[in-house]
Amino acid sequence: MAHHDEAGIGDFVLLDQINIDSFMENLQVRFNAGKIYTYIGEVCVSVNPYRTINIYGPDVVNQYKGREIFERPPHVFAIADAAYKAMKRRGQDTCIVISGESGSGKTEASKIIMRYIAAVTNVSQQAEIDRVKSVLIQSNSILEAFGNAKTNRNDNSSRFGKYMDINFDFKHDPVGGHISNYLLEKSRVVLQQPGERNFHAFYQLLYGAPDAELAKLRLVRDAGQYYYTSQGGNTRVDSISDRQDYKSVSAALRLLGFSSEKTDCIWRTIAAVLNLGNVEFDDNGETTTVSTPERLEAVGALLSVTPAELGKTLCHRVIAAGGEVMEKGHTGVQASYGRDAFAKAIYERLFTWIIQEVNSAIEVREESQRYRTKNTVIGVLDIYGFEIFNNNSFEQFCINYCNEKLQQLFIELVLRQEQEEYSREGIEWTNVDYFNNQIICDLVEQPHKGIIAIMDEACLNVGRITDEMLLEAMDKKLANHRHYSSRRLNPMDKELRHGEEFRIRHYAGDVSYNITGFLDKNKDMLYQDFKRLLYSSQNETLKSMWPEGAQHISKTTKRPLTAGTLFKNSMIALINNLASKQPHYVRCIKPNEEKSPVLFDRERVRHQVNYLGLIENVRVRRAGFAYRQSYDRFLRRYKMISQFTWPNFHGESDKEGVKILIKEQNFVDDVKYGKTKIFLRSPQTLFKLEQARGRL
Ligand code: ATP
Ligand code: MG
Repeated sequence: MAHHDEAGIGDFVLLDQINIDSFMENLQVRFNAGKIYTYIGEVCVSVNPYRTINIYGPDVVNQYKGREIFERPPHVFAIADAAYKAMKRRGQDTCIVISGESGSGKTEASKIIMRYIAAVTNVSQQAEIDRVKSVLIQSNSILEAFGNAKTNRNDNSSRFGKYMDINFDFKHDPVGGHISNYLLEKSRVVLQQPGERNFHAFYQLLYGAPDAELAKLRLVRDAGQYYYTSQGGNTRVDSISDRQDYKSVSAALRLLGFSSEKTDCIWRTIAAVLNLGNVEFDDNGETTTVSTPERLEAVGALLSVTPAELGKTLCHRVIAAGGEVMEKGHTGVQASYGRDAFAKAIYERLFTWIIQEVNSAIEVREESQRYRTKNTVIGVLDIYGFEIFNNNSFEQFCINYCNEKLQQLFIELVLRQEQEEYSREGIEWTNVDYFNNQIICDLVEQPHKGIIAIMDEACLNVGRITDEMLLEAMDKKLANHRHYSSRRLNPMDKELRHGEEFRIRHYAGDVSYNITGFLDKNKDMLYQDFKRLLYSSQNETLKSMWPEGAQHISKTTKRPLTAGTLFKNSMIALINNLASKQPHYVRCIKPNEEKSPVLFDRERVRHQVNYLGLIENVRVRRAGFAYRQSYDRFLRRYKMISQFTWPNFHGESDKEGVKILIKEQNFVDDVKYGKTKIFLRSPQTLFKLEQARGRL
């Protein structure tokens, strides 16, 4: 049936055989021919080309603008256009979910989509719309400076999840946007693996700022001098010009309207973190003191607090017990731990604050709301894919839970709704077996019984519970869960290398997590003293990031939510938001580990195809129908094609009219008649109908 040529087949649904081998074959043939996009129905599979391909220019934009998805070769532009059209034609909110592992091309795809939308909108060239478009696009360089870093898998790896709404007015032009961020990998601020770097912003400042600026910020132009920027070994990246990027980020900050005070505060804070990383302590067994007073002085100056207060906060904490307030000295280990927690917290607050500021720069302004009743929205989700490392920790646990939730949404929307609709419409349909991963979501998120709840309970007993005890509690409560195991529950299991590991059977495969550090990361504790310290800062911008520092020590503060619970809540909100929109999917694949434009590593790709659930996706799609419409709307749209239905059909029902029309056009074999809707199997039929309509 399918037409083979050297460039393979543009839609996996049209393959002769649906299995992993033929899927892989087609993907590889297309990759080798430079065709990086392939559809599964309306899902776009994208393989990172690791080279510049000339397929994003204005001429290509014009080919896709306003076209139906099946009219042109597969392209991520077509997905952007489909989302845009759905909004334009039916006033529907849509979203584009981009998933895939690190380095597979998600962030690039999200930027290509944004540029496409910018290119096809604002035909009347209003200045305000142009401003909004450039602000939306420029916001990326700011987010990437503070949220991206060089990792061993990607020179420009996003270390946070990003969801961006673009708002459109009644003329379907962008009038603003909003960004939500998820789980910044803040441990990177104080700790980097060999070969990796801290967030780009640190190096941009060090290698890009003018000499005078650096001196003012108490810095020298050498990232090798700072503990927080030098652990990875190499502070430079071939593919990155930190100096150039500093300029772009500065320009973007200006364009977004950051005042000079605010921009100043950003770089001062970055400089403070750099200096803080070089603060060291002296622990003589009795008391701990700062052994690097000149650093302390620099950090104090940069944060606009007194060095004395800062030193005290680093070496002591104040505790309130039984109505009494007392000071307790830290050990050297505690002081170092506190310093790093402080650095991470400063950076995380800064990042959140920057996103808030970006949001106020891109939010929909009053004047663009004047003529409209309601804004429509296209959301773009660029979020971390499934992660399996040699050593998986709390971060991977969160990220993989996020992917379970997204898979759940995908199943919910695409697979289940599809099957349910067929049965409702009385259409004959062989059920496609799919794995419903709800059970794994429950394992993580269920109240009382889920892993997050068990962790939270352990975190209530500050100091008394160890990671090992947490694991024991989990083993006890989850002993009978099909998707949970550990050495204790499964002593013969060789894959659980350590006693301190537990394993989750994810939809995408088994992952073993090392429990060490889970409690600490979940508690995510920062001594109150630091919050009060920064609230006392003379720098108003910095102070505004720490409102809870206003609270007096003696006030029993409500325990802040744990990192796990915060993440869970943000995921549930995200999924609810996505579920309210019409979704489109881009599934990104990384062809190899070497960033090579010619290498197609079959094993690595096969693995990704599996855990993205792509074969299952093809099966459902193939069993299904590309297009469906209620009889009355269908008839209204196509009645002019036939003399029996034009100008009006006088038979019994719309259904009958549709049947006559389909018969006359010779499409009987491609359609099924449901109770209220007609179903078309192939998109080509719809295409031909549209053509027939256009000819008349
Ligand atoms: P992470 O999860 O680490 O953030 P990611 O999926 O966002 O990874 P990207 O940063 O988008 O990955 O892509 C990694 C690199 O691959 C890019 O910096 C670029 O060099 C290359 N790349 C990705 N997509 C394309 C494309 N369409 N054309 C050319 N190069 C690309
Ligand atoms: Mg990315």
